[in-house]
Amino acid sequence: MEMTHRIVVLGAGYTGMMATHGIARRTRNTDITLVNPTDVFNERLRQHQVAVGQELAVHRIPDLVAPAGVAFVQGRAARIDAAGRSVVLDDGQELTYDYLVYAIGSTTPRVEHAFTIDDPAFAQALRSNAEGVLAVCGAGLTGIEAAAEAAETYPQLQVVLLSRGEPASMMGPKARTYLMNTLDRLGVDVRTGVTVTRLLPGAVELDGGGRVPADVTLWTTGVVHARLAAEAGIAVDDAGRVTVDAALRSVSHPEVFAVGDAAAIRQVYGTIHGTCQSGIPTGAHTAESIARILRGKDPRRFRFGYIHQPVSLGRKDAVIQFTNPDDTPNRWYLKGRAAIAYKEAVSSSPLKFYRSKTAVPSAITKRTGGRHNRPTPEAALTT
Ligand SMILES: Cc1cc2nc3c(=O)[nH]c(=O)nc-3n(C[C@H](O)[C@H](O)[C@H](O)COP(=O)(O)OP(=O)(O)OC[C@H]3O[C@@H](n4cnc5c(N)ncnc54)[C@H](O)[C@@H]3O)c2cc1C
Repeated sequence: MEMTHRIVVLGAGYTGMMATHGIARRTRNTDITLVNPTDVFNERLRQHQVAVGQELAVHRIPDLVAPAGVAFVQGRAARIDAAGRSVVLDDGQELTYDYLVYAIGSTTPRVEHAFTIDDPAFAQALRSNAEGVLAVCGAGLTGIEAAAEAAETYPQLQVVLLSRGEPASMMGPKARTYLMNTLDRLGVDVRTGVTVTRLLPGAVELDGGGRVPADVTLWTTGVVHARLAAEAGIAVDDAGRVTVDAALRSVSHPEVFAVGDAAAIRQVYGTIHGTCQSGIPTGAHTAESIARILRGKDPRRFRFGYIHQPVSLGRKDAVIQFTNPDDTPNRWYLKGRAAIAYKEAVSSSPLKFYRSKTAVPSAITKRTGGRHNRPTPEAALTT
């Protein structure tokens, strides 16, 4: 009789779902358990839509994974016993594993006197202040998408976007100009070269002492990583992300795979930054690796090259900057209707993967640009 392998996946975000789906489709004799605090899939790619009160379709996680024979446990991992290979959930339940997939993502830091984009109370605050002032702190892609969405949804709302650097500076000049013109058309007041020094009730204080009065403030800068892995003695980087080898296994605990925002993944151009674009391939690759290990083979090296920077600008506009594998802009970009359709395809494709009856080959999800991303000696596989 063949042995049954116990696999626990922590986190049912984009990457944990992808890993779960792939493992279920690629392996036999596995007992897979997926753990997540909520039983509804959080479409983080559409968080800015939810933030302004749009209602999205509800995708229940058990419905997405049960057909593949995966057990779903609603709960939050409170502790990992890495030596004993078990996870304790917040309700005291203990799950033992042979392989653990660490996919708990990242969050925006909570700050006083401001909302974060995942705070359900933000939508209500906006509704109540639809003719007031919204200050968006941080003009990364989340800040830009939230500012545009809010300005379009509430035409009487004054939206102020505060940024230390130039918004969308990672884009090429044409896509960037298009983006700035669209923000201008939507009436977003973009103030660059400013640093927020303090958040106050009803105002944002800037360096130099200036204040921006704000009925509602949204904080969008930075991400934080839970200390779960670090507290378990699993090797992490300074940010708390699990340090992995070239096959995405923890460098300290090779039976632990880390994917998505929760992993520190080195490529030739540097450490991958948290995107769904890079995270989905890490989930697919991990599934492939676990299936290979269970067949007695070595896992393959993970390689990834970026292809795009998609940004929605409300429901009626968008801009997509295409990129080189290292995420620098190339000369191609999309705008307007073509960009809206492209962005919608990007946002809806993960759920199509999870509903598919076949495993998505990791080559499809990561290959574009990946071939240019040649391995370095220090990224060599450890097996
Ligand atoms: C507004 C917005 C727009 C974005 N747009 C894009 C885009 O266009 N393209 C792109 O590539 N990326 C985009 N991103 C980034 C992308 O959403 C993230 O990189 C992606 O969600 C990371 O996936 P993940 O599975 O690693 O983590 P998450 O999606 O954060 O999922 C982690 C899951 O783990 C769960 N969890 C947390 N702690 C525990 C625990 N202790 N135990 C069990 N479960 C736990 C969480 O509840 C969550 O369900 C966007 C992000 C935002 C906020």
